[in-house]
Amino acid sequence: MGKTVIRVFAGIFAVVLIVLTIVLLKTIAFTSKQVKAEPAGDFTVDAQSSAQRLASAIRIPTISYENNADVKGTEFRIFHLYLDKSFPKLHEALKKEVINNYSLLYTWPGRDLKLKPIVLMAHMDVVPVEEKTINEWKYKPFEGRIAEGYIWGRGTLDNKANLLGIMEAVEGLLAKGFQPKQTIYIVSGHDEEQGGSQGAVKIAELLKSRGVVLDYVIDEGMVITDGIMPGVAARVGLVGIAEKGFMSVELRAKGVGGHSSMPPRETTVGILCKAVTKLENNPFPARLDGPAKHLFDYVGREMSFPSKMIMANLWLTEGLLKSQLQKVNTTNAMIRTTTAPTMLEGSTRDNVMPNVARAVVNFRILPGDTPESVLEYVRKTVNDPRVEIKPLGKEIQGPSPVAGIDTKNFQVIQKSIRQIFPDVIVAPSLAIVASDSRHFAGLTRDVYKFAPMILKASDTGRLHGINERIALDNYTQLIKFYMQLITNSQM
Ligand SMILES: [Zn+2]
Repeated sequence: MGKTVIRVFAGIFAVVLIVLTIVLLKTIAFTSKQVKAEPAGDFTVDAQSSAQRLASAIRIPTISYENNADVKGTEFRIFHLYLDKSFPKLHEALKKEVINNYSLLYTWPGRDLKLKPIVLMAHMDVVPVEEKTINEWKYKPFEGRIAEGYIWGRGTLDNKANLLGIMEAVEGLLAKGFQPKQTIYIVSGHDEEQGGSQGAVKIAELLKSRGVVLDYVIDEGMVITDGIMPGVAARVGLVGIAEKGFMSVELRAKGVGGHSSMPPRETTVGILCKAVTKLENNPFPARLDGPAKHLFDYVGREMSFPSKMIMANLWLTEGLLKSQLQKVNTTNAMIRTTTAPTMLEGSTRDNVMPNVARAVVNFRILPGDTPESVLEYVRKTVNDPRVEIKPLGKEIQGPSPVAGIDTKNFQVIQKSIRQIFPDVIVAPSLAIVASDSRHFAGLTRDVYKFAPMILKASDTGRLHGINERIALDNYTQLIKFYMQLITNSQM
């Protein structure tokens, strides 16, 4: 009897010891994936005059409106003229094409036309400023003020710093007599904030009709986060390698409406609400694969020992990690297709039950799921023949393909970030929001979403919000990043 107990304990002890050894060995072997930060190229940027040029660009309100007919064409034309005037060398060396009246496509011909071209992308439109928030702005949104070490105004982050920054970089390289080996396109859409159907889509179609196959595309989407990534002290440059898809689904519960004095046991509103509740209570399964897995693989290696132990041993800790990630809305959105009920409609009178009650639920689709599989899941979950389910509107977009990370293109971006921001950790990631670059998926697999803007948690509300601004230092670094990226891409 005693011997058996000892044997059992010895057995358990041995198993624990083996598991612990594996955990430790795996943690020790979980070493950094960061490339050595080589010295940056010898680039000079005139911080003062480049900031002035960005500030002036902010003063031209190239606003995107929900209704395309509202586009104030003159503002966009003034903006084009402003670019012409501000970047003379660029406009002499690059071919400029105006696409669909307002979008811009520049071609910087490479020395070797056999090489696949790259695309640097940044949209020129900005979102409107809500009238009722205007007094909360420290400096007026279209004033283009330089103050307190920042350039202020609508479009500084989203996305004129990127566009002007790319142009500053090209202008600077041209001044040094640089000519690229591979052709470089600069693509700037005028309706990104409205989905890009009139701008980026048309440019992608044009390039396709010319038989262009691209090496890679880089566009906005992700940034350098400062203090946002839990468990990592360093700033993290998140390079989006895929974008989630988008679909809204309409649920309609049909039945007999009428006077509310004699309601049936189940009403259309009740049936509809049950369906919506079922969807909310049965979220799509969390998956730690694809871009999210790559993210934690890169970032986990930079964490302090206990966190690193968890990240290095997903074979044991995946469940624990998932349960932590789904507690926070932002990280939850990275590991599952999300379910968001957005619209509800019943009767318009307090004493009338509707014949039809209607709800709209918006889904953001994780790579690996498809609009079809999402719809199937919705049908199975609701599982009520009284509820009609169908996708809503034209705007149905599957998740984007996933760009490569074991490729020269990713390495070029990673290396360029580390050269200009030596203390920044680089990691692949999933872009939660949409950008124009998704329309280029047919031209290359490698569509990356990254702009070297440094954002703290408190800054995220400035995007599309009030007091949008970029630090002067950050803007200079941004320009140098594009110079470095263009230079590195040619090697
Ligand atoms: Zn944007």
